Amino acid sequence: MAKSRSYKSTPRTRKSALTTFGSRTDIGCVRDHNEDSLIVAPPLYVVADGMGGHAAGEVASEIAVSVLEQQAPAHPDGEQLERAVEEANREVILAQHDGRGREGMGTTVTAAMLEGERLVIAQVGDSRAYLLHRGHLQQLTRDHSLMADMIEAGQLTPEEARFHPNRSVITRALGSDPLMRPDIFELNVEAGDRLLICSDGLSGMLRDPEIENTLRRVRDPQRCASQLVNEAITAGGHDNVTVIVVDVVGQAKKRLKRVKLKARLTVFFILLLLAAIIAGAIWGGYTYLNSRAYLSEVDGKVAIYTGVPGSVMGLSFSELNRVTDVSVEDLQPGTAYRLEAGIQVDNLAAAESLVREYESEAAAHANDTNKTDSSTDAPNSADATGNEDSPDATGTSAPEQSEATA
Ligand code: MG
Repeated sequence: MAKSRSYKSTPRTRKSALTTFGSRTDIGCVRDHNEDSLIVAPPLYVVADGMGGHAAGEVASEIAVSVLEQQAPAHPDGEQLERAVEEANREVILAQHDGRGREGMGTTVTAAMLEGERLVIAQVGDSRAYLLHRGHLQQLTRDHSLMADMIEAGQLTPEEARFHPNRSVITRALGSDPLMRPDIFELNVEAGDRLLICSDGLSGMLRDPEIENTLRRVRDPQRCASQLVNEAITAGGHDNVTVIVVDVVGQAKKRLKRVKLKARLTVFFILLLLAAIIAGAIWGGYTYLNSRAYLSEVDGKVAIYTGVPGSVMGLSFSELNRVTDVSVEDLQPGTAYRLEAGIQVDNLAAAESLVREYESEAAAHANDTNKTDSSTDAPNSADATGNEDSPDATGTSAPEQSEATA
């Protein structure tokens, strides 16, 4: 089947969060119409190369991409994509007789669906899909063309086929056989791979090493697609030329998102754990301080505090509970000295118990003082009765006084 081109194509684009791509189509230097059509609607990428003359090629290729846009599955699926291409074939055949196109019109179709690292391709005709994998270009599709058959039969070399007069003859296309079935390719690709879909306006003008070089050299997919078209035009532009370049991002972004989410959750839980530890430490410290007590001195009296004595950077960890009636001066000198630093006990009950001991001690001290005072007063009475042997007021103990009296 000989092809002719006379119509423009209509590119369609849609952004995708998981792929980066570029596309361009051009009428070339010889044809007066662009009969190529393309669609870039991730995960669907299609190039269709129409034929039939008198505007029919453009109609056929646009019908094909339109049906595929509507009928292609939401995700890569070989069987469903095959059925979509078969539906496009039936629609092109129907259009030959309903006024939309002309008898004999047809189109190639190379339809690729790429999602993550899953790639499915439906192939009819001689448009091609290539994969740049780890820097090396490989043709994924097999041309349905006379040249491909002759090369496989050993009758031609690929270089001879490039200049063969029947190089545009294709053996399978949409629009001729109602029972036509596309070739289906299903494969896994890798992040970093680059998918190229093109009409024969590119592959017929550039050798594979030239295509490979540009795919490797131009990193931005849109610039790369444009550059490939420019090179095809520079090489002669004998045909309409259409290029779609898709970078395989694969699951890298999803994995990156998962890693970021995991890192955020890890940080969140670490902060949560730290907050729990700090809150626990504060609560534990507060509980500990409230359970502790100590005795100290306030205005000469024994006072009970909750907490512990002392402070850190001006921050006190105690609170005055009450001031008792026990005078510090009524206690043993050692006790009074210890009160200055604070006498720590286990709890308030222990503090109250110790205060009761001090009250007893103070009471005993008071009694002793009273007795001493009474004893001190006795000689003075003797003096009053005229006892000349009574000791003087300094340095005589009570027993000595009793003995002297006896
Ligand atoms: Mg072509």
